Amino acid sequence: MSQSVCILGVTGSIGQSTLKILQQHPEQYAVFAVTAHSRMLELVEICKQYHPKIVVVPVGKVEELQQYFKQHQLTNIEILTDEAGLIAVAEHRDVDIVMAAIVGAAGLLPTLAAVKAGKRVLLANKEALVMSGDLMMQAAHDSHAELLPVDSEHNAIFQCLPEGYFQNERNGQPKQGVSRILLTASGGPFLNHSLQQLKTVTVAQACKHPKWSMGQKISVDSATLMNKGLELIEACHLFAISEQFITVVVHPQSIIHSMVQYVDGSTLAQMGNPDMCTPIAHALAWPKRIKTHVPALDLFVMQQLDFQEPDTTRFPALKLARQAMQSGGLAPTILNAANEIAVAAFLNNRIGFTEISQVVEHTLNQVETGAAESIELILQVDQLARSTAEKIVMNHGS
Ligand code: NDP
Ligand code: MG
Repeated sequence: MSQSVCILGVTGSIGQSTLKILQQHPEQYAVFAVTAHSRMLELVEICKQYHPKIVVVPVGKVEELQQYFKQHQLTNIEILTDEAGLIAVAEHRDVDIVMAAIVGAAGLLPTLAAVKAGKRVLLANKEALVMSGDLMMQAAHDSHAELLPVDSEHNAIFQCLPEGYFQNERNGQPKQGVSRILLTASGGPFLNHSLQQLKTVTVAQACKHPKWSMGQKISVDSATLMNKGLELIEACHLFAISEQFITVVVHPQSIIHSMVQYVDGSTLAQMGNPDMCTPIAHALAWPKRIKTHVPALDLFVMQQLDFQEPDTTRFPALKLARQAMQSGGLAPTILNAANEIAVAAFLNNRIGFTEISQVVEHTLNQVETGAAESIELILQVDQLARSTAEKIVMNHGS
């Protein structure tokens, strides 16, 4: 029998890659529900091809979507709206697998709803886990949800960890012979830029990643290395390991997607061509393997693999994220919220590239942290951090 899939954020880069895999395995997976935010024409094309039972869009888009449905004679597709709609499909009893691929904090509640409902949750939306950390992991434990990493690095680590690793006690210590995680980073498009050069880079340059084709927000995060910072926090939660056991390694070719080291001197790496379809397919079918179009590595063509330490003077975002994880509690929530505001401001040409980390740092200094006791508190602090960051942007702004 086929499994029923809900794709949160279907119109995005991860959403489209997910569809590509599902299309190759129609006997195994059926698209039950999809969600979109602004790209209604793309959504209609997806509906024509995959015939979902439910779509979710913002209430302000319903009329436009209905018009398109009429034009294309699409019937029998239920339209739900806004956050309530996103939550309803994420926890829907007819859904087996939820791809969490909304970008940013907007994905938190729907992702958490899927986790609480005990689904297999394919986690691309790292911001949701960065914000809610222990609460999300506890919810997964309580509901027996399968929270599987799609982020290529975390998927690689997952593949390199020993079997049964997740049944361990969550006390921050590496277990079962594991000694360290090596989290790889491509270094982004500005790896060799000087601090002076970084000050004048444009939005177009920042969004053009050398190895991966991704949405705008994560592309900018990759350029500042905040993406690696968010991933460091993500890894701490997913693998119940404290940040001191995670080393970030810059590896510009993006062939090794991360590594796990063991006490006997072994280092296991997962390698592959940089294409998100591989980790998506892995998480969809785990523990089985399914085919993708991604070609196997040709080691004779590959010339060399390079590794270097990240430079946190030019890329302070990584240091800020590590410090936020060390502080714990609400600090990662504040970091994430400030970063979302700062990246949006950069994308709108309101601040320069190097000011992104400055906005995050100042926000972290201004908003009081504490224990992340509840989702309500997390959402409240997220809002407070956003308004604080917005004020800092205004003071910086032109
Ligand atoms: P995109 O920007 O390409 O897509 C984002 C998706 O979220 C779109 O479907 C968009 O809808 C939807 N969306 C945006 N804002 C909202 C909102 N406020 N409410 C509901 N839906 C919204 O991003 P990516 O696919 O690149 O990334 C998605 C997530 O996956 C991010 O968290 C990213 O960090 C993570 N990730 C991405 C990787 C990649 O290779 N792209 C790799 C690893 C992780 P619409 O387009 O219709 O506006
Ligand atoms: Mg990644």
